[in-house]
Amino acid sequence: MSTLRFYAIKKSLNRKPVKIEENERRSALFGRNVFNEDKMRQYLTKEAFNSVMDAVQNGSKIDRSVADHISTGMKEWAISKGVTHYTHWFQPLTGSTAEKHDAFFEPIGNGRAIEKFGGGQLVQQEPDASSFPNGGIRNTFEARGYTAWDPTSPAFIYGTTLCIPTVFVSYTGEALDYKTPLLRALQAIDTAAVDVCKYFDKNVKKVNASLGWEQEYFLIDSGLAASRPDIQLTGRTLLGHSSAKGQQLDDHYFGTIPLRAMQYMRDLETECMLLGIPVKTRHNEVAPNQFELAPVYDEANLAVDHNSLLMDVMHKVAERHDFKVLFHEKPFKGVNGSGKHNNWSLSTNTGVNLLGPGKTPMSNLQFLTFFINTIKAVHDNEELIRASIASASNDHRLGANEAPPAIISVFIGEQLTSVLDELQNVTNGKLSPEEKTDLKLNVVGKIPEILLDNTDRNRTSPFAFTGNKFEFRAVGSTANCANPMTVLNTIVANQLIEFKKEVDALIAKESLKKDEAIFNILREYIKKSKNILFEGNGYGEAWEKEAKKRGLSNFKTTPEALKAKVSKKAIKLFEDLGVMNKIESVSRYEIEMEEYVLHIQIEGRVLGDIARNHVVPTAVRYQNILIENVKGLKEIYGDGFKKLAKEQMALIEEISSHIESINSNVTKMTNERKISNNIEDLEIKAHAYCSKVKPFFDDIRYHCDKLELLVDDELWPLTKYRELLFTK
Ligand code: ADP
Ligand code: MG
Repeated sequence: MSTLRFYAIKKSLNRKPVKIEENERRSALFGRNVFNEDKMRQYLTKEAFNSVMDAVQNGSKIDRSVADHISTGMKEWAISKGVTHYTHWFQPLTGSTAEKHDAFFEPIGNGRAIEKFGGGQLVQQEPDASSFPNGGIRNTFEARGYTAWDPTSPAFIYGTTLCIPTVFVSYTGEALDYKTPLLRALQAIDTAAVDVCKYFDKNVKKVNASLGWEQEYFLIDSGLAASRPDIQLTGRTLLGHSSAKGQQLDDHYFGTIPLRAMQYMRDLETECMLLGIPVKTRHNEVAPNQFELAPVYDEANLAVDHNSLLMDVMHKVAERHDFKVLFHEKPFKGVNGSGKHNNWSLSTNTGVNLLGPGKTPMSNLQFLTFFINTIKAVHDNEELIRASIASASNDHRLGANEAPPAIISVFIGEQLTSVLDELQNVTNGKLSPEEKTDLKLNVVGKIPEILLDNTDRNRTSPFAFTGNKFEFRAVGSTANCANPMTVLNTIVANQLIEFKKEVDALIAKESLKKDEAIFNILREYIKKSKNILFEGNGYGEAWEKEAKKRGLSNFKTTPEALKAKVSKKAIKLFEDLGVMNKIESVSRYEIEMEEYVLHIQIEGRVLGDIARNHVVPTAVRYQNILIENVKGLKEIYGDGFKKLAKEQMALIEEISSHIESINSNVTKMTNERKISNNIEDLEIKAHAYCSKVKPFFDDIRYHCDKLELLVDDELWPLTKYRELLFTK
């Protein structure tokens, strides 16, 4: 065993769970480090408090003079908790979070200093932003962007820093982050949904999109992870033969959580409580060393912030426990990958979940309206939905026979399928009194408040209705939820606007009653969006064929999938709804294509290095041992050696043949990379990386993995799958 591998394993075996002291109730810890309503009441003047609440609830602007009061209150609270610095916390398009800390401390002359935090510093800052990806929005000479306070997501303390959630925009007004378009999309759906709600309840003033994410991840001992250059640099294993025991026995899912992992989770949950992240669920996932964590759902913007923050906190807490967290969608070949289900719904200020069936026929008609409009939106924009979850790492998961396929479809369950079937037969135009009564009593009125077949059983669907919400399951575990949430809320908003127009037109032109008009439009929507509904096995080949017949897209790779983001239709959609202008849409497309290229480029380099500099030299060393052995046999037995050394000689040749394949493939891959690097056009370049460079990964890996089985375990330099996955 290589020294590195040996010590990594030895160390991991000796690790003891970190002892976690807990003597306070979680409910008491919850939100302690968040500048929430309670703290605002305590630290802000009445005027300042009302102004923030008005901004949160109605999106009103905060007056600059009031901002000074707010910042002062925030500072007092923060200092009382030992905070020394503040930062504008934002989510640039790198996919992670960014922060630049400034101290409250300020010298005021004569050797004296004070703690200062003015309204200006709260509201706006100018980070040196030139090295964040911007997709060509800002020329470098005007590489200026600023961060601006988002009062709808409360400030929080992490460590000794006050973090202020902000948007990040260029001086020309374009969004440079994930949050800005999300906030605009949430605004769009709020307006559109309120308008539609008015058909049913005039009191509705606001509709919030809610998000409940479920985060899957792997926990690997940090020493073992560090012994693998591929995990260190790419977050996944680029090679490694599967372990004899993997997940076949299904003994991990919902099994007892190993003590070390449990202590990590407890520690993490405490941090989450302090930060106001309402984590509730934890369990083992399907693969060994794979786990999941989920909070209670929240307003979408806050939930997105919480997920980004959580991912940071998970890395930090992992350090204390000598773990490395892997968020990659497919860290281990042949073992389940990780996703991030996005549970999504809409709820009104009057407390109604618009995607939950209600008690009366009228509330059920409202439910069906939102339910069917969502299906129609997904149907009309399936390519854009697919694009919203595209990434190099998620490509490993989508369509890889375990996660949802790359084909977007909607699962709604038996009960609702039959409801839609009935609605499809509603009469065109005016309905007879008998038909209305029948609809009321037997169709709409029959939808139970709790859907019994609770529809959650088909785990293969990428977009499933689960009783009172839709669950977008194809989102990758590394993703920032803002991307899919921006798209989903935008397309549904657009659809609701369309719906309202059509219903109003029927009422005006054909003088239909409101509910008649709604039934008429819904009937047409059901007919038009049938193709997107699918209840069967999404992993099967039969579905691939069927989906093709239906004309549904099946983009298996990111460069193909992303294209939908810059289609005429998508650009117009985002423009019409005020979510992104053309420059913003195009720049995001470029950033994501570029990111794809960079990911594959890094993986190619790392794989080439490991194959040539770790695997091949080890194989040669073992081969030399075999050669020595053969020579020795010959020396002792003369001609009789041939029979005795037969197996060894076969091995020597087999090793040579794998070495030859590895070397020639690495050379070919490197050449393809060089050719691709010289391509100017980003789109052609991304496709070249995808179809010319990436295919070598599998070939190289195949031969390396074969050598892993042949070469003496004592010599093998890389920590093996069984060690990575089964060390507790
Ligand atoms: P499970 O899928 O494990 O049976 P649930 O269906 O209750 O559990 O919820 C799964 C996730 O969906 C949880 O994270 C929960 O917070 C979230 N969720 C529940 N209701 C909503 C809703 N109305 N909007 C958004 N997310 C929701
Ligand atoms: Mg789920």
